[in-house]
Amino acid sequence: MSEKDPTESWEKVPFKTETRQILNILIHSLYSEREVFIRELISNASDALTRMQFELLTNRHVVDADAEPGIWISGDPEAKTLTIRDTGIGMDAQELADNLGTIAHSGARAFIEAAASQPSAISDIIGQFGVGFYSAFMAAESIEVVSRSYRPDDSAARWIALDEETFSIQPAEKTDRGTTILIHLKEDAQEFAQEDRLREIIRKHSDFIPHPIYLGSGLEPVNQQSAVWRKQPSALKDEDYTNFYHQFTLDHQEPLLKLHLSVDAPVQMYALLYVPPSPERSIFSPRKDEGVKLYARKVLIQEYSKDLLPPYLRFVDGVVDSEDLPLNVARESVQSNRVMAQLKRVITNKLVDALNTLGKEQPEKYAQFWKVYSRYIKEGIATDPEALVPLTPLLRFQSAKNPDVLTSLEEYTAASPSHQDKIYYLLGDDDRLLASSPHLEGFKAQGTDVLLMADPLDSFVLLKLDQFDGKELVNAAQVDAPAPASDESNSEPDSTLSDEQRSQVLEQIREVLGDRVTDVRATDRLVESPARLVDADGAMKPEIQRVYRLLNQEMDAPKKVLEVNLHHPLIQRLAQAPSASTVAPLVIEQLYENALLLEGSLPDPGKMIARIQNLMAAALEKPHGE
Ligand code: ADP
Ligand code: MG
Repeated sequence: MSEKDPTESWEKVPFKTETRQILNILIHSLYSEREVFIRELISNASDALTRMQFELLTNRHVVDADAEPGIWISGDPEAKTLTIRDTGIGMDAQELADNLGTIAHSGARAFIEAAASQPSAISDIIGQFGVGFYSAFMAAESIEVVSRSYRPDDSAARWIALDEETFSIQPAEKTDRGTTILIHLKEDAQEFAQEDRLREIIRKHSDFIPHPIYLGSGLEPVNQQSAVWRKQPSALKDEDYTNFYHQFTLDHQEPLLKLHLSVDAPVQMYALLYVPPSPERSIFSPRKDEGVKLYARKVLIQEYSKDLLPPYLRFVDGVVDSEDLPLNVARESVQSNRVMAQLKRVITNKLVDALNTLGKEQPEKYAQFWKVYSRYIKEGIATDPEALVPLTPLLRFQSAKNPDVLTSLEEYTAASPSHQDKIYYLLGDDDRLLASSPHLEGFKAQGTDVLLMADPLDSFVLLKLDQFDGKELVNAAQVDAPAPASDESNSEPDSTLSDEQRSQVLEQIREVLGDRVTDVRATDRLVESPARLVDADGAMKPEIQRVYRLLNQEMDAPKKVLEVNLHHPLIQRLAQAPSASTVAPLVIEQLYENALLLEGSLPDPGKMIARIQNLMAAALEKPHGE
């Protein structure tokens, strides 16, 4: 830092501790992409211009009310300087001290912590953070800021960083509104005085800044400036959209979906919306909250508008810009505006359409979307009555026939035989348990597919969704599989057991289980399993039972009916066992608990181990049969 005579008399103000730490890291780091400091200074100038435009909506009593809003950048290789000037809102002496003397933004702490914990990765950390104004110290020998605020009564002031420890503020001569930043470049940073290099950097990092950026004596802006979302989709390439997404979010991954709208009726609107790969923003993201950026006629009205999307689409990020919103709409009155309601309707419909199209045309990409965002879609169905119909086609489920592939309700009905007028599903906690559920056996035997719903949120969806395309959704645990007319084979009485043995074995099971079940009866719907539990007539619907359970409401699991497969060898052996058998009651207990286990409602599986060991011992005791 240059220590010239006049500075001796200046009042010296120490930087805050955090600021000093960051300065120290930035000044001494060797960061190969330090050009990003230009992006940071341009972004500050752009913010200052946007704030000025907003002020001008309601207040013309300002310095230079008619000044062109713009950013002027010039390099001087001989003087080894770089200058960035804007006609933004400006700062008075106090604001210079407050804003530039401390690093206010929330990233500062995180930056220092990240830098301290991984000193070797400082380059990465600088790259990921927007360290703001201070990033200029990566290339600066010294920095001088002269500013004139928009308030007519304020006077101009100069801020100078004297060294790593202190800065000073002086009165200055500047009559026009805005801020000028003069940087004396380090010996190894002379590239930033070259116009060609500056042009390249501006195009790379700041192309979509919504204000003109002029370079040197050039009269044409070097950035595209006209907001990308205001262009015709046909004029843009995929990479333009991705570039904008990267600049907007600093997320270096690709978005899962982009939607560019240019709509005239019922309301004029441009929108450029993205579904990010994850709803969690990194701490480095410049987007700090949910909501889309809302402009009215290019003027920023809200950084995070939450009124343009229903809550279940809160993961969508991007920009909405309407010519129909009144410019003087106050930030607070935005949500009650009629145009806002129209914008919301159009955006919501278009987004849901775009997701549906993605599901049909790019199922693999949609599967990625579904993995991350299914809970939002299900939340929408469960909580928003208007969302049920539009969101239902977005649902995906595993199914018994093909558990590895996600199926939509539309695909399920299209694949079902034409006489099948229902959609069958099975609820459970675990998709592997569901896939081996005895309730599926009858359906498998008939070739009927069943949707497997292992996500707790599915129960909430089912409270709202009872039919699709005229076909009722039916719980496969509560009904028999639809039988093709020809198939009667299984319903014949089993000839190996006498009528008496049949009723005796059912009676014996009833006795052992007592009031733990409401009834024990024979079924011909089971093939491989000896028994299953089904709801008694009039029991509370299983999806409602599950919802109660998930909401932690005290509720005794309702008693069920045990259905027994009299064709099963185990049941036949049980029926033929001598009445004095001590093993038979153990077998019945175990049968019952096996069925509970498959329902996902066995409270304590550990307890069955002792019984299983007894049964094993009994099996070894009589190797030659009874
Ligand atoms: P951030 O932009 O995240 O707030 P910065 O370190 O980039 O953090 O800038 C700090 C603050 O300094 C800004 O919030 C703003 O108040 C002020 N500032 C910086 N540059 C300008 C400028 N060109 N015009 C007006 N104010 C500015
Ligand atoms: Mg900034």
